[in-house]
Amino acid sequence: MSYSVSFSGKTVHYYFDEGLQLVDQLMGERKAVFITDSNVHSLYREVFDRFNTIVIPAGEASKSLESLSFITEQLIRFEADRNTLIVGVGGGVVTDITGFAASVYMRGVKFGFIPATLLAMVDAAIGGKNGVDFRLHKNMLGTISQPEFLLFDLSFLQTLPSEEWSNGFAEVIKYGCIFDSFLFDRLVANDMGFFRNDPQEALAIIQKCVDWKNKVVQEDETEQGNRKLLNFGHTAGHAIEKLLNIPHGAAISAGMIIACMLSEQITGLGADATNALRLLLTRYHLPVWLSFDASEVMDILKMDKKRKNDRIDFILLDKIGSARIESLPFDVIYDTLIEYLHAGDH
Ligand code: ADP
Ligand code: ZN
Repeated sequence: MSYSVSFSGKTVHYYFDEGLQLVDQLMGERKAVFITDSNVHSLYREVFDRFNTIVIPAGEASKSLESLSFITEQLIRFEADRNTLIVGVGGGVVTDITGFAASVYMRGVKFGFIPATLLAMVDAAIGGKNGVDFRLHKNMLGTISQPEFLLFDLSFLQTLPSEEWSNGFAEVIKYGCIFDSFLFDRLVANDMGFFRNDPQEALAIIQKCVDWKNKVVQEDETEQGNRKLLNFGHTAGHAIEKLLNIPHGAAISAGMIIACMLSEQITGLGADATNALRLLLTRYHLPVWLSFDASEVMDILKMDKKRKNDRIDFILLDKIGSARIESLPFDVIYDTLIEYLHAGDH
């Protein structure tokens, strides 16, 4: 199954449930350089044998200017020129740095992605945002630039550890909450083992998430409006992630609960919806209760780009499957954090 999606000035080709061999066809006569990380490289050595490959260390630390300069050195060593295709194979770290390196190398060369984690397939590799962290600032330097293609080979997921499945499911659950109550119900009716054991079922939910992300990015590529909805759970979540140094999925899991508790006060979201989300997150091995210092979370929120005076934009739910943006005062957020921490105390 394949289709194309047009963004401003660029058409992106999506190939679902395809074998990796399709990449030869996509390259055509062009020279290609592959970029991957050390874990994916050692698990799938045979995939990279035929290609010039740049291997970066696995982990978020590779989203850095240092690895951009390492990649640039290697691209020069492989004599990559403006007609070379760069292919990123890996999780979100690899697709983010590949997209960034390719968009600035010689003022921009073509690139494609083969996402290898659930999170990259449903979120990180879609939508054209790329970049690196700078000092303590996540995604501080980057561009919005779309790949030429995305190739989804679900056999990569066979080696994905449970924790990485949960990280991906946190984003899948997010799409259910903000856009799609049917997806939410489908997740409720099953569990992680079900999707892990049935690639066709996994593919169906991956495609749903890709469709939602493409739709919202097409409407709002530069995040002036509805693309912001994708940040549901991420405002408090990112702050908690930074503070506790925990996996992204775990942090946004707590962030989504906090956003629901705020929604109960502001939009009248039913407490039953928040409870349903708690049960669902637990089903996908995501933590619902985390303990942290509320004032430290507030300090981080006060430095957020989305801050306006003593308020910050939050994504709230009207109901499961429908979200909106609200500007909330800091004191309301602080009180809700305290309420969240108390609720987890028993
Ligand atoms: P994410 O995709 O969650 O944004 P990463 O790119 O850091 O983040 O990937 C998460 C971890 O999973 C990394 O340690 C990476 O090396 C590893 N990884 C990526 N793809 C696979 C795979 N198909 N099988 C096993 N591990 C993988
Ligand atoms: Zn996320």
